[in-house]
Amino acid sequence: MAICRVSGPAFSIRIEMEAGMILCADIGGSFIDFAVMSADGEMTHRQALPTPVGDLDAFTENLASLCASWPGVPLHIAIAGVEDPATGIVNAANIPCLATVHLAELLRIRTGHPVLIANDADCFALAEARFGVARGHANVFGIILGTGVGGGHVIDGRIVQGLGGVTGEWGHGPFIIPPPGGTDLSAFIPSFRCGCGQIGCLDTIAGARALERLHVWAGGEASDSRSILSAWERGEARAVRTMTFYLHYLSAALALVVNVTGCSIIPVGGGLGNSAALVAAADRAVRQRILVKDSGVLVRQAVLSRDAGLLGAACLEPVYDRVMCR
Ligand SMILES: [Zn+2]
Repeated sequence: MAICRVSGPAFSIRIEMEAGMILCADIGGSFIDFAVMSADGEMTHRQALPTPVGDLDAFTENLASLCASWPGVPLHIAIAGVEDPATGIVNAANIPCLATVHLAELLRIRTGHPVLIANDADCFALAEARFGVARGHANVFGIILGTGVGGGHVIDGRIVQGLGGVTGEWGHGPFIIPPPGGTDLSAFIPSFRCGCGQIGCLDTIAGARALERLHVWAGGEASDSRSILSAWERGEARAVRTMTFYLHYLSAALALVVNVTGCSIIPVGGGLGNSAALVAAADRAVRQRILVKDSGVLVRQAVLSRDAGLLGAACLEPVYDRVMCR
C-alpha cells in the first residue's frame, strides 16, 4: 500500500494506492502527459511529449522513451478514445494511427511494460470519485464539458465498462430532433449533424465549439465560448437566449442520466466546467427535472483539474476486476 500526496491550486489530497510504483500517461490528440506514481506515494517526473497522431511507430517510441527509466513497471494509460475489450483496438478519433492495433498488447511487446488502458473521461470520473469532489459517493457520473462532451460512470470506486467498452457517453444519441415526417423546424430546434453520424446529439451543442455554433444559430455574433459565458453572466440578451437553449438541452440529458444511473453527484470537468455560474445553473435546471425532488446539490465543479486523467489512470485495475456489463 503506497500513499500518494498530490497538491494543486485548489486541492491537497493524500492518495492511498493499492499497488506500488505505477507509470501513468494521459494521452490526448495533442500531448502525452506522463507522470510516475512512485512507491513512496508521490506523483513525480511530470513530462509531456507531442502525440504523433498519424505515426504508430513514433507514438510507441514516445511512450517508450517516457517509460525507459522504469523497466517493467506497469504503465496505465488514460486516452481520448475507447478501448474495445473484445479486440483491444482503441477508437480514438483524434489519433488515427491506433485504428487497427491491439494497443495494450503492442505496447507491452515494444516497451516491456504491462499496460492498462481506459477512456480519459472514465479516468476523470474515477479520480474525482476516489479523491476529488465526489469522494464518499458510491455512484458517480462524471462529465467533461470541454472541446466536446464526455463522461464516465463509477460505482463503488470502480469504472463501469459497457458494451464495446462504451459507458458514460451521454453526449451521443439523437434527441434534439424534429418529429418524424420531414417537417423543417431548423429555425426552432438546433439540430446539427454529430461526428458520430447521428443528428441531434447533445455533443453538437454542449462542448465549447458547439456552444459557439449554437450562439450563432440563436442569433448571436460569432464569438468564443468564454465571451459567450461572460456576456451571459452580464445578462446580455443574445447570450441569455443562447444559454437558455444550452441549459434546456443540457439539463434534459443530465436529468435522464440521473434518473437512469441513480448517481448522487455529477462532477464537471473541462474548460466550460471552470464556469461556476454555468455549473450552478446546470445544477438548478437538472434538479427541477429529476424524479427525486430533495436531492441536494448534484452538479458540482470538479477539483482535480488537469491531474484527474493521470490520477484516474493510476487507479486502474485489470479488466477482470472491474464492474462489467456485457
Ligand atoms: Zn453523436
